[in-house]
Order: sequence, then C-alpha cells, then structure tokens
Amino acid sequence: MKTRVIIFNLGSIDRFTADPLQVLREGGWSADVDVVEVAELAAQVLPKGRALLQGLFAEEVHYLCCASRPRTVRALLDFGNVEFRSQKVTWITVPYDAGALKKEHGKPWFPVIDRERCTGCGICHDYCLFSTYILDNSCEPASRVEVKNPLNCKAGCPACARLCRGNALIFPFCPEAALNGALDEVGRTGDDALLQAFEADPLKVLAERRRKRRLIDDKKLADAERDSFVGG
Ligand code: SF4
Ligand code: SF4
Repeated sequence: MKTRVIIFNLGSIDRFTADPLQVLREGGWSADVDVVEVAELAAQVLPKGRALLQGLFAEEVHYLCCASRPRTVRALLDFGNVEFRSQKVTWITVPYDAGALKKEHGKPWFPVIDRERCTGCGICHDYCLFSTYILDNSCEPASRVEVKNPLNCKAGCPACARLCRGNALIFPFCPEAALNGALDEVGRTGDDALLQAFEADPLKVLAERRRKRRLIDDKKLADAERDSFVGG
C-alpha cells in the first residue's frame, strides 16, 4: 500500500523541537514518500476555512500523521468534519516546545470535543455563559453537545474543561497537558472539582448560569469576539 506523510501544525505557537521526518526514520518508517504539510490546523477547521481540508484523506493510502499532539489533531479533524477514520492512519508524536504555550495565547482559542470520551452530560453547555456549545438531546450521547460558536469562547478560559468528568474537552493551545490533548490517557475528573465549582449545589448554579446567559446578547458578544480575533 502506498504511504503518505501528513505533518500537522496546530498554529503559530505549535513548534516542533525535532524534525518530523527524522522522527519517522528513527521509528523505522520510510520518510522517502509523499509529504503533505498542513499549517494552522486550528484556524483551518473553523467553518470558514474547513472546505480546503475535505479531500485530505480522500485516497486509499497508508497515512503517517505527525503532530505534537495527535489526540488534539483527531478532535480538530472531527470538529472540522474531515473524514479520516475510514482510512489506515498511524499517528506519530513529534516533540514540541510546550513552554511556548505558557508564554503566549495561541489563536484561535476554542474547545474541541474528544468524541471517544464525551458522555453527552451537557455540563459544558450549561456552564458556559457565552453560548459556545449547543445541546441537542435527540442525538446519541456522544454527539449531543457540539461546539457551535467557537469564537465566542474567551481566550485563556478553560473553565468548562475542568468540570468535564470524562476529560473530553481539549483546548489546543492551553498550557496544561491534561487540557491540551498531550495526554492520551487522562483520568476522570472527580466530583470534588464539580462541587467546588458549583458550591455544593450544581443544579442551582447551572440554572443561574443559564439565566445569566439569556441576559447576554449573544450576537453582540460574538461580533465583538470575532472583531478582536480578526484584529488581534
Ligand atoms: S462536559 Fe464533557 S462529557 Fe459532558 S457533554 Fe461536555 S464534553 Fe461531553
Ligand atoms: S472555556 Fe469558558 S468561555 Fe470557553 S467554552 Fe468553556 S466556559 Fe465557555
């Protein structure tokens, strides 16, 4: 079977500290093959840019996908509706500069959902005041919650991810390894974190946050967020 290498870059602060092709060779893979580079994946999967990615896995070849955090790439591709799961894909982790994520906010900042871990509990949707998520209870649990308005998310705020019991939320540019997809195996968040955040009365706090959300003019907020993103 033919082999193709795809090197994924998540954004400008996602910097490899080793040459991906050298990592492939050291892993016993031949790097003398067709190589495709995908830059700024987090920006490309946003609704405006995602059409360009649609043919990425169209051919029946063996894909060797190199990335700093393969789990993050899978969640981003799912978010962008890029079909890759029907193909033969081997994921290769390339060392990267984790410190860069601590120094600056990566853009665009938004969450993606690890569909293999999401239970559809809806806590992220109920907690976020900025309508980043939508919830459709008629869907299967794993696809019940969607990131509908990614740019409504406040840069640097991974609050909902801390409340996700399944650790299914990934912020590609978050400096914390447990929240940025660097860890393949992440434990489940215990009830303590939830109780602390909700002051021991989760239902009351979530109801109050839903009420506040209705008081926010979503459109104005989304426009302001988009302006600051484009301008920044
Ligand atoms: S809080 Fe986590 S498990 Fe619950 S719906 Fe959101 S992403 Fe899925
Ligand atoms: S990180 Fe904050 S602003 Fe972004 S979706 Fe979660 S709760 Fe909402």
